[in-house]
Amino acid sequence: MAKRKLKNTQRLFFEAKNYLVGGVNSPVRSFCSLGGEPVLFKEGKGAYLVDYDNHRYLDYSLGWGAMILGHAYPGVIRQIKKSLSAGLGFGATHRSEVDLAKAICRAIPFVENLRFVNSGTEAVMSALRLARGYKRRDKIIKFTNSYHGHADFLLARAGSGLASLNIPTSAGVPRAFLKDTLVLPFGDAQLLEVTLRRFKHEIAAVLVEPVGGNYGVLPLDQEFLQETRKLTKKYSVFLIFDEVITGFRFRFGSLGDSQGITPDLVCLGKIIGGGLPIGAYGGSKEIMQNLAPLGKVYQASTFAGNPIVMNAGIATLEALKKESSGYQRSIALTSRLVYAMRKLEIPADLGLKIDFYGNMFSLRFKERRHFAELYRGLLKTGVYFAPSDFESNFVSFAHTQEQIDKTIVAFKHALTDL
Ligand SMILES: *Cc1c(COP(=O)(O)O)cnc(C)c1O
Repeated sequence: MAKRKLKNTQRLFFEAKNYLVGGVNSPVRSFCSLGGEPVLFKEGKGAYLVDYDNHRYLDYSLGWGAMILGHAYPGVIRQIKKSLSAGLGFGATHRSEVDLAKAICRAIPFVENLRFVNSGTEAVMSALRLARGYKRRDKIIKFTNSYHGHADFLLARAGSGLASLNIPTSAGVPRAFLKDTLVLPFGDAQLLEVTLRRFKHEIAAVLVEPVGGNYGVLPLDQEFLQETRKLTKKYSVFLIFDEVITGFRFRFGSLGDSQGITPDLVCLGKIIGGGLPIGAYGGSKEIMQNLAPLGKVYQASTFAGNPIVMNAGIATLEALKKESSGYQRSIALTSRLVYAMRKLEIPADLGLKIDFYGNMFSLRFKERRHFAELYRGLLKTGVYFAPSDFESNFVSFAHTQEQIDKTIVAFKHALTDL
């Protein structure tokens, strides 16, 4: 396969590095885990992205999962344009905030009240503050390899053994900030119970991604989630579902509801903003009214509930509802892709593991360098996966069977070249 020339793209990235740290505004965008230079895109439409040298790529990264309808979805663009002419934001409650909140509350029935913020990070951070303020307890439990945004006290890697000292996964995070963050292995209900019992009356919440999307795809463990719900009730601890990736991903609503598991709080982001910056957290009125101005837990924002963002969210949810067959289709296409990839003759020593759930999938080799090689091969044939084996790939409502089949062929070639 001829190597694609990326003259303009490379030139732009070179210039970007002069002004932006590492040429990016978020680390994985730099291809830091792949080596070599990233591809930069000037536009997207449907399932495709176009780089600065006019090469087209079938996109499976989809703005880190936000663009479930595909890029530049006409109904969303139309609504944003319409909303632009009314002004960009007033810092006062706006019709569109009420409408998006109503749509989300109806789709996730246990959410009676919610609060919009500007990112998933803020949603999780604020939901935990609310849990701690409500329970008047400081400790929280999270699980190894789950990602909940970049709030200081969540950038923790567990030491060995129960509640041993956490090691920050980033410089600049004081150890003291992690002293109330307990990190447990996902799936070990016994250890969870031991921990809840040992720190009785100290733990405010258990935070969990119901399907993991940030350490590759960690498929659903319904039994463990149910057990976690049971235990958190027993010890009177909040269960918080971080559905920033999974919310509205597999169905019109939450993953928790589809599994019959109701958390105390849910965090949302990505999809509900239609591609614009958003986060939200919600739950029962009884819990949510502890937020200021009604309650004592403070959380504020200059931009939260921005009307342009809200309108993008409303248009996105309307489209998801109207075209809800897209869920079935994107899930079926993901199965098709994953089973075809798994069926190929893959040398056992590569140790390729393909995980998926619904319309999300991820690949990992025993050695990470093989992922980087495969990735380059895919890029050459115009297939853009998420640029790290720890990130999830997504299939959108815009992807077609023909595109999936092309991807299977591209994958086969890239694999043969390893
Ligand atoms: C993306 C993500 C976040 C962080 O959201 P940002 O908008 O990037 O701050 C938090 N939790 C999960 C599960 C995510 O996938």
